[in-house]
Amino acid sequence: MGAARYRGVRFKASEALRFLAGLAVAVLVLGFVVLRVTSCAPVPKPAANPLPVTASPTTPPTPPAAPTPPAHTPALATAICSDGPAPAARANAASLQTLAWAPFGRSETGWATYAPLIGREIHTACAPGTPGFAQALAGWSRDHRLPDDGIVTPAVFGALKTTIQLRRPFVQLSAKRICPNPPAASALANAAAAEGYGGKAIQLRPGALSAYRQMAAAARREDPAIAADLRNLTIFSGFRSPAADDARCAAEHNCNGLVRATCSAHRTGLAMDLYVGQAPGFGPDSSADPNRAFMSTTPAYRWLVANADRFGFVPYPFEPWHWEWTGEAP
Ligand SMILES: [Zn+2]
Repeated sequence: MGAARYRGVRFKASEALRFLAGLAVAVLVLGFVVLRVTSCAPVPKPAANPLPVTASPTTPPTPPAAPTPPAHTPALATAICSDGPAPAARANAASLQTLAWAPFGRSETGWATYAPLIGREIHTACAPGTPGFAQALAGWSRDHRLPDDGIVTPAVFGALKTTIQLRRPFVQLSAKRICPNPPAASALANAAAAEGYGGKAIQLRPGALSAYRQMAAAARREDPAIAADLRNLTIFSGFRSPAADDARCAAEHNCNGLVRATCSAHRTGLAMDLYVGQAPGFGPDSSADPNRAFMSTTPAYRWLVANADRFGFVPYPFEPWHWEWTGEAP
């Protein structure tokens, strides 16, 4: 009495109990971790604009030409969106349209434009003002040693932005003050007329063009709303020669800073500007805040945020239309 036998080893009852309690805690912790990463509990309809969930039955295999980009991992966690810190959810719901800040050096208001990318990064499909979103953000912040109250602040967004931006090989070079040479003219391929916005002639590196074609076809196949508008995902800018960029910047007086004026990602033949929609009264490349905010809600942009990495593409958060293929070095 007072002792238990377990696989031939004698334990005191108290030790056995401690062991069992420890085991139970370990199982609970492990279960919690797994749930956090892969939770697929059914979601009650999120408040508004849920991110499109990656389609599965018709998902085509990733094309061999487009290697998996450095980041994105598990599918979006669709935990119950009402679970999480309510005060942070309230703060986020309020700041979504009111936060006064300058995340890209230019004053803007609110962060709704960036909500899809943030949600993708923190692996939640919950709408930005929900407790579930705040919970996911808190987890991401904790992992990145930031204040983990679940509130979207300029500091937290700054870390998210850096993470997203550094997936662009072109930005990695720019950070080292390296401006890559453009490819030879003979190394560029011509897009079909129907692939250019309004029939515009577009050139890209062949690998980037091939990956683009597979991505655009998948988008139209997977989302009828994208297929319904033939302009969606047509290319309005691809390769731009440095000389042409210089001339344009001088002519239009829009040389926004040294790097932009003298070294655009479009010189690589890997960057492309895609039509993702436009707010009434704006063009598809207008960086006016209302236009960018509108774009962040369109089916084409939402699909890209959720799926472009399957084809090797990474975003530039400030311009919803600008995407870069990572399958080759710039
Ligand atoms: Zn661009």
